[in-house]
Amino acid sequence: MVKVIMLGPPGAGKGTYATRMAPKLGIPTISTGDLLRAARDDPEIGGIIRKYQDSGELVPDEIVINALKKRLEKDDAKNGFILDGFPRTIEQAKALEGITNINVVINLDVPEEIIIKRLSSRRICPKCGTIYNLLYLKPKVDEICDKCGTKLIQRDDDKPEAIKERLKIYHEKTEPLIDFYKEKGILMTVTTDRIDVPPEEQVDKIMSILKEKKLI
Ligand SMILES: [Zn+2]
Repeated sequence: MVKVIMLGPPGAGKGTYATRMAPKLGIPTISTGDLLRAARDDPEIGGIIRKYQDSGELVPDEIVINALKKRLEKDDAKNGFILDGFPRTIEQAKALEGITNINVVINLDVPEEIIIKRLSSRRICPKCGTIYNLLYLKPKVDEICDKCGTKLIQRDDDKPEAIKERLKIYHEKTEPLIDFYKEKGILMTVTTDRIDVPPEEQVDKIMSILKEKKLI
């Protein structure tokens, strides 16, 4: 049973690595976005989630935790899971402790200039959601989705002003989690020192940490 949190600034590769690790570990990746999308149909909490989201408001922590608790009870998560993008604050981390015990927190340490370059070269397929990066996860044909042939776009979130704002929020709210988990003795830091590190290389590094720690 391995219960993993992927921690790191936006653009550190949390989702990219998590989705590559999940099949190797035989456990699901759970991102807050996917979690809430799925929970919209839940008979108990779906109504309240739709109410917040449809009015453009953030879903409160308490409801996210409730949705997560239900998600973790599903069969596919019985051998563990990877949390991608949750928790983002100390309050969320404390609430998470009330529903499960995390074994390891992978802290992706990436210099800010690399983050900015990476995020600003990220492209997404508006049709199927596949994420590309013009620097190291290029589509076969320039700016065209490999899977469905749609022209790729840059999300507003990945434009320079938005990137600055996202990093500011990360420093204020999420970065304190590094010390929080370090004190618990479950933080493992993986450093990226160049922009063109292939995702597989970092995933191999993370997998060997998990083996070293006898978590897998
Ligand atoms: Zn596509």
